[in-house]
Amino acid sequence: MKTVNFSCINSIEAHDSLESIKQAYLPEVCFIGRSNVGKSSFINAILNRKRIATVSNSPGHTKKIFFYTIDNSIILVDLPGYGYAKTNKKKIQKLSDLLNIYFTTRNNLKMIFILVDSRRNLMRSDLDMISFLKNKNLDYLIVFNKADKMSKQDKLIIEKGMSDDDTKYLKKIIFCSAKTKEGIKEIKKEIIKILN
Ligand code: GDP
Repeated sequence: MKTVNFSCINSIEAHDSLESIKQAYLPEVCFIGRSNVGKSSFINAILNRKRIATVSNSPGHTKKIFFYTIDNSIILVDLPGYGYAKTNKKKIQKLSDLLNIYFTTRNNLKMIFILVDSRRNLMRSDLDMISFLKNKNLDYLIVFNKADKMSKQDKLIIEKGMSDDDTKYLKKIIFCSAKTKEGIKEIKKEIIKILN
């Protein structure tokens, strides 16, 4: 059984276009979600760091793709947040082109973690992303983030909704919180599973 030391970061690369990115041979997983969903905090929690991924209060600030090579075993990719209303149309198009190229060209991409704000549940832009990934036959998992804001009852309602969901959008969900570290171990396990 392979193990991964998530604190061991071999390299970090940031790109705003995919032309400059070489194909990688290590397996890769990526994280995506609406702006302000807590993605940077979540990635910092996985990497056991305080400030590797940029945490910002201004939604929509991350427009680059960040590649973290971890323990010479796996690449974790931080994709720019989507669904930020104040971004202009040109920027939205650029972002959507970048994501489209990313999802259609990364042969080493094994799993996409879609982060959703637990308090808001799935929004239109999340559902659009899910159906895009389904159409491309890409494997994804839904992370209900900021789960510290949820009661047990809220979680049961979401889980029930999942089992009743005949669109099978929600194949598997994990509740997470960078604040309490809930679910972080489970995410690491899912990543390690990919390597075995
Ligand atoms: P990003 O824009 O998706 O990268 O989100 P950030 O990580 O920058 O976080 C956006 C805001 O959500 C910040 O104010 C964070 O302090 C807050 N936040 C992030 N993770 C959590 C969490 O697990 N629980 C709670 N309650 N707040 C969080």
